[in-house]
Amino acid sequence: MASAWRRLGFYVCFLKSKLNGGPDIISRGRRVIPGCARGIYSATGTWTKEYTLQTRKDVENWWHKRIKEETSKISEADKSKPKFYVLSMFPYPSGKLHMGHVRVYTISDTIARFQKMRGMQVINPMGWDAFGLPAENAAIERNLHPESWTQSNIKHMRKQLDRLGLCFSWDREITTCLPDYYKWTQYLFIKLYEAGLAYQKEALVNWDPVDQTVLANEQVDEHGCSWRSGAKVEQKYLRQWFIKTTAYAKAMQDALADLPEWYGIKGMQAHWIGDCVGCHLDFTLKVDGHVTGEKLTAYTATPEAIYGTSHVAISPSHRLLHGHSSLKETFRKALVPGQDCLTPVTAVNMLTQREAPVVILAKADFEGSLDSKIGIPSTSPEDASLAQTLGLPYSEVIETLPDGTERLRNSAEFTGMNRQDAFLALTQKARRKRVGGDVTSDKLKDWLVSRQRYWGTPIPMVHCPACGPVPVPLQDLPVTLPHITAFTGKGGSPLATASDWVNCACPRCRGAAKRETDTMDTFVDSAWYYFRYTDPQNAHSPFNAALADYWMPVDLYIGGKEHAVMHLFYARFFSHFCHDQNMVKHREPFHKLLAQGLIKGQTFRLPSGQYLQREEVDLTGSVPVHANTKETVEVTWEKMSKSKHNGVDPQEVVGRYGIDTIRLYILFAAPPEKDILWDVKADALPGVLRWQQRLWALVTRFIEARASGTLPRPQVLSNEERAEGRKLWEHKNSVISEVTAHFTEDFSLNSAISQLMGFSNALLTGVPPSRQAGFYRDSPSVPRQPPASGKLSDVLPTATSGWPLSFPAVLGPHSPQASQRVVLHSPEFEDAVCALTVMAAPMAPHITSELWAGLQQVPGKLCAHYAWDAGVLLQAWPAVDPQFLQQPDVVEMAVLINNKACGTIPVPQRVSRDQDKVHELVLQSELGVRLLQGRSIKKTFLSPRTALINFLVQD
Ligand SMILES: [Zn+2]
Repeated sequence: MASAWRRLGFYVCFLKSKLNGGPDIISRGRRVIPGCARGIYSATGTWTKEYTLQTRKDVENWWHKRIKEETSKISEADKSKPKFYVLSMFPYPSGKLHMGHVRVYTISDTIARFQKMRGMQVINPMGWDAFGLPAENAAIERNLHPESWTQSNIKHMRKQLDRLGLCFSWDREITTCLPDYYKWTQYLFIKLYEAGLAYQKEALVNWDPVDQTVLANEQVDEHGCSWRSGAKVEQKYLRQWFIKTTAYAKAMQDALADLPEWYGIKGMQAHWIGDCVGCHLDFTLKVDGHVTGEKLTAYTATPEAIYGTSHVAISPSHRLLHGHSSLKETFRKALVPGQDCLTPVTAVNMLTQREAPVVILAKADFEGSLDSKIGIPSTSPEDASLAQTLGLPYSEVIETLPDGTERLRNSAEFTGMNRQDAFLALTQKARRKRVGGDVTSDKLKDWLVSRQRYWGTPIPMVHCPACGPVPVPLQDLPVTLPHITAFTGKGGSPLATASDWVNCACPRCRGAAKRETDTMDTFVDSAWYYFRYTDPQNAHSPFNAALADYWMPVDLYIGGKEHAVMHLFYARFFSHFCHDQNMVKHREPFHKLLAQGLIKGQTFRLPSGQYLQREEVDLTGSVPVHANTKETVEVTWEKMSKSKHNGVDPQEVVGRYGIDTIRLYILFAAPPEKDILWDVKADALPGVLRWQQRLWALVTRFIEARASGTLPRPQVLSNEERAEGRKLWEHKNSVISEVTAHFTEDFSLNSAISQLMGFSNALLTGVPPSRQAGFYRDSPSVPRQPPASGKLSDVLPTATSGWPLSFPAVLGPHSPQASQRVVLHSPEFEDAVCALTVMAAPMAPHITSELWAGLQQVPGKLCAHYAWDAGVLLQAWPAVDPQFLQQPDVVEMAVLINNKACGTIPVPQRVSRDQDKVHELVLQSELGVRLLQGRSIKKTFLSPRTALINFLVQD
């Protein structure tokens, strides 16, 4: 026996007294690492029976860098394998990681590990959304250059992410503020410009009259004053760059139908875009028959009736009356507030060449977000009445045939068409002539991308007095940011101060010209970053088409709900555009979307609105009061923030509880899309702490049994013991099936953990879940799903033992143990323990790595389908056994009443998932008649997979 131990290098410390050749065997064990008194098996060769706080620390110390090294060795090169692209929204490098980051990256890391175990080629890349205002503010306030501030934050945050044991594809790291990235942002801007999708127009900005500078929305406080000078902010018209997102409104609206459900976010996207039923058309403006060079764009919901135009209406707040238009005075003279005013300006439709007068309407608010629209009396009674009032001529362009169909007349080439055909033909012709015609809503606006800031991607355009705006030739990209050292926050765009940089030669005529001094909205940088991850080092193009075609679309995109509209919309827009440029074959960039909820902390607020720290609140009375003033304090849950004193520092909680515990807590506390209420006071981690101890106790028990000196022999098991094994086999298969579904379909990783907890219980107690009294506590199928609030203290059993839980506490007072013979001899038991450890690995990689190391050394293994020479994260994800899928015709349904097992009834397989039918069958059965007749049933819970129905009745 001793020789067998020696050969396997296996030793279990607590058995040494039982073994004859003790000292001999001890000498085979690995040396205890100096300074690591207790140590763990991987370090010392001695299995640690208790999972204490120290064990947890030893496990994480040992495995942290090993897991990282192991993960980085997995190659992504094999393109014959199916791929999985999991993407978490990249962070702004503020320098501080917060709990929201920890949540999103824990989810993506878990999914990435799971998909790797399924044999997929996985990328889980990470980068930095590194341009933006805070860096510039740091420069103004603290005299730090935005670049060095940003780079030092990136360095710090990388370390923090590393400390959390997150394994990203770091070789794909991108940083949007580096020229090798923004070169391609500029390239895409020029492609948009060439396609007619980037243009300049006057638009309102926030103007600080004291500092004489444009302010970002974030720099204007809630009273409409400048963050810096305190001056009342004014609105001022400036010529700015727009991206014509409305050109893709219809395509993006329609494509939503092909995407799977996005937690309500598809609805928000659809709402943001609006009903795409009309289009904008372009007009040139004339005064007294003279062409002015001014243009106007106006919307109509019935472009097919365009030949019936009577006028073009603008609102009193239209830029033509307020900006720098040469017609401003003409319009202002014509304006009589409160009246619909005919102006001497006429608008020439660039498609039809027909002229109609421009009218300033009395009402300021048009439909949607419009400030101009085409008046067509044939399709609008309101327009007809205005035309009559002002005496404007127009022609009727729609006739209704006796059969009710409507046709066009007086409409040039469109005459005779039905309205639908005319709509299509006319909008198509307008698009071809580039005079509008993109089908869009009256709501969606084009995207204003100009920012009068330094720390952003320079817009790669040159303004030439002779040629107008000219794009920088592609071979001259990137247009790098000039190095500016003096940031004052005053006096216009910072780039304008770099005169050597601003003054340049026109790329077209070589004459003296000036560079555009606006930079791009940072949403442009993040609108295409997911493409760059597929080919991050490409020096010749934004990305290689073949690589993008392989990796795209992103299989799972994870991020905050706050990006449901703008970021996702812009990112989808860029992907649609790149598709039309033949840069990528997929149109939609993100297949599944997981919008994770917030992590909220408890706040204490005085009636004045002032937030208190927890220490300032007296919680001993019936209502919480301010400890000093005794004022009543309002207690609520809010998004964590420094100013509300309700934040949690990720580094601190990880230091305190360990990486695996925090990972498990975050995944278990609520379904990903729900908010987590971080209950600090209750120290609400007992559920996941206890589960880790159970896993440890289970593996320890198995190791003990196998180290007893007897080799496993399945043939010695009795029929009853085999039946016990069979139950474990069934349970294992059902858990694999459920957990896999949670990982791939609904991402309810909390339910996946519940399943695994229930399975651990069954293995420790030897009682299948359907027979476990109180099983419901850890079963997700009965009502222990975290409530909508996600508040952990509502979910967990109330007995909250701290570290460390002792063995009996883990098992519960009356749990019968699985028979020692089953533990030792049953292949199903071995398989179940291994499958459980493997399935827990993506969520808790450290503890499972150590448990696996213990399992690897167990002698006489019965299961050959595990890769015993490899770590737990390199195991294949357990598969459901094919025999399990061949379901019997009749299911023995376990009946529980108030969580107590009361017997079973046979239920036909085909109805065993139908709660109402099963409920009915139980009531009709002898058992139901005997135990439930006349009692008031409050609620019923069916768990189809475990073939269990639980009746909650009033006693
Ligand atoms: Zn020129």
